[in-house]
Amino acid sequence: MRFYKMFGMLAMLSAAILMVSGCAGDKPAAEKGSDETETATTADPTHGGWWCVEHAIPEEECSMCSASYAKACKEKGDWCEEHNRAESQCFICDASQAEKYVKLYEAKYGKKPPAATE
Ligand SMILES: [Zn+2]
Ligand SMILES: [Zn+2]
Repeated sequence: MRFYKMFGMLAMLSAAILMVSGCAGDKPAAEKGSDETETATTADPTHGGWWCVEHAIPEEECSMCSASYAKACKEKGDWCEEHNRAESQCFICDASQAEKYVKLYEAKYGKKPPAATE
C-alpha cells in the first residue's frame, strides 16, 4: 500500500523536524568542559577566513583584500576605478551585486551573513 508508506514517511519526517526544532530551542548547558568551548570559535565561519566580513564577499574572491584577485579582475576589464574594486563587486555602484555573495554564504551556512562593516 503506497498510501501507508507515504504516511509513515511523513510521520517520520515531522518527528525529525520536531526533534530538530526542539533541540534548537533548548539552550545547551553553560557549564561544560572548558576545552570544548575553544573548538566552537574556530568553527565560526566569520573567523575561519572564508568570508570577508568587512566586504561581504568570500576572502579569495574579494577584490579589496586579495591582490591576485584584483589583478585578475583588472585584466578582465572588470574594475571600478572610482571605488577601487571589481565592478562586479562594487555594491556602491550596484547594490544588487551583493546578492550573489549573500546567496553563496546562505548556501554554505544556511543563514544570512554578518552585516558588512564597510
Ligand atoms: Zn575584503
Ligand atoms: Zn563603483
